[in-house]
Amino acid sequence: MINQPPIGQEAIIAANLTRVRARIAEAAQRAGRNPETITLVAVSKTKPLEVIKVAYNLGIRDFGENRVQEALEKQAAFSPSDLRWHMIGHLQTNKAQKVCGSFAYIHSVDSLHVALALQRAAEKKLHVDETEVQQTVLLQVNISGETTKEGMTIEDAPAIARQLLPLSHLKVQGLMTVAPLVDDPEQVRSVFRALRQLRDKLRQEVPEHSWEQLSMGMTDDYHIAIEEGATIVRVGRAIFGERVK
Ligand SMILES: *Cc1c(COP(=O)(O)O)cnc(C)c1O
Repeated sequence: MINQPPIGQEAIIAANLTRVRARIAEAAQRAGRNPETITLVAVSKTKPLEVIKVAYNLGIRDFGENRVQEALEKQAAFSPSDLRWHMIGHLQTNKAQKVCGSFAYIHSVDSLHVALALQRAAEKKLHVDETEVQQTVLLQVNISGETTKEGMTIEDAPAIARQLLPLSHLKVQGLMTVAPLVDDPEQVRSVFRALRQLRDKLRQEVPEHSWEQLSMGMTDDYHIAIEEGATIVRVGRAIFGERVK
């Protein structure tokens, strides 16, 4: 029985999920949006496989991880065909070969450099293993401009988006941001709004990409992100509890 979650954990995750789903529905309603257009990515980084299975059994199909090695180990151990893995952490280009094709979404393309590495990785997969990869990616933007944050600047995003047009193995589907840590979540509303406005601008300026996804909002602020147009929210602690690591 050592692989079972501790007694009570399943009930806690179930209650947490009910609460998160209700808050998503309420936020969508406030914004006049259909809650079904919002994807809940359960961020399972640092959490054991057992709790991922619990969440899967409660209907979650999207899981977010931020470390390549940890994510690939979990995938090797548990990968039902309808489960979608999301890479949400910073990518080192030397991991591109491992990452490319292993995730339904890569949210963290934060530079041209990373995008080119993914394209080269896909080309290599085609030539060496004859596997055709179309990797869906989001461009990570550092809206708040904090120097400690990953992401391209708002100003650079249009030029980078254009430079990605010839990359045949990448499918750019939108934008992602991580809001700064603040005491009052209302303070990050402007960050989410700025990402949406950038998306609207890119729709005009680089219409060849789809721009349908806005990945924004975490445990403390996903309700605000939804009011500002998030189509993907990435929620960890509100579902799985605090992380110890
Ligand atoms: C950890 C993480 C999350 C989830 O954060 P919570 O506060 O646990 O909801 C979302 N996005 C990214 C990029 C993360 O690294």
